[in-house]
Amino acid sequence: MDVEVLIVGAGPTGLMLANQLARRGVRPLIIDRHSWPAQQTRAMAVQACTLEIYSKMGLNEQAHTLGAIVGGANMWANGKWTVRIPIGDISQSISPFPYILMLGQDDNERIMGAQLHELGVDIRWNTEFIALEQYPDYVDVTLR
Ligand SMILES: Cc1cc2nc3c(=O)[nH]c(=O)nc-3n(C[C@H](O)[C@H](O)[C@H](O)COP(=O)(O)OP(=O)(O)OC[C@H]3O[C@@H](n4cnc5c(N)ncnc54)[C@H](O)[C@@H]3O)c2cc1C
Repeated sequence: MDVEVLIVGAGPTGLMLANQLARRGVRPLIIDRHSWPAQQTRAMAVQACTLEIYSKMGLNEQAHTLGAIVGGANMWANGKWTVRIPIGDISQSISPFPYILMLGQDDNERIMGAQLHELGVDIRWNTEFIALEQYPDYVDVTLR
C-alpha cells in the first residue's frame, strides 16, 4: 500500500501526531504492535501546556470530566507523613490552565484515539514495524 505518513506506535506521541496531521487533511496510517489501547496507566498527570493543546483540539471538556485538578502533594517517608506541598495554581500568571490535571495515560490515549476516529483515521492494531529501507523519493517499510 502507499501512504503519505506512517506513524509507528499509538502511544501519546503517535496519537498526538496523527491527530495534528488528520486535522490538517493528511491521512496517516498509524500502527501499533499491541492488540488494543493500554489498559493500565503509566503517566498519571498532564501539565498546563498539554491542556492548552487539548483546548485547541476540542478535547478539554472530556479531559476535565475524566480528570481531577491537583491541590497538593503529600510526601511520606518510612511510613510516616512528612510534608504537604501545595501545587494548586502552579502557573497562575502564564496559562489559562494553571494546575496539574490528574489524567492517566490510558484516559489520554482513549480521548485522543476517539478524536482520531472522528477524523476518519483508525489505529491498525496487531501490526508491527519490522524494517525500513530508504530511497531518494520513497521509503519501503516492512510490517508484520
Ligand atoms: C511509571 C511511569 C510513570 C510516568 N508518569 C508520567 C506522568 O505522570 N506524566 C507524564 O507526562 N509522563 C509520565 N511518564 C512518561 C510517559 O509514560 C511517556 O512519556 C509516554 O508513554 C511516551 O509516549 P510515547 O507515545 O512516546 O511512547 P509509548 O507510550 O511507549 O508508546 C509507544 C507505542 O509504540 C508501540 N510500538 C513500539 N515499537 C513498535 C513497533 N516496532 N511496531 C509497532 N508498534 C510499536 C508500543 O506498542 C507502544 O504502544 C511515566 C512513565 C512511566 C514508565
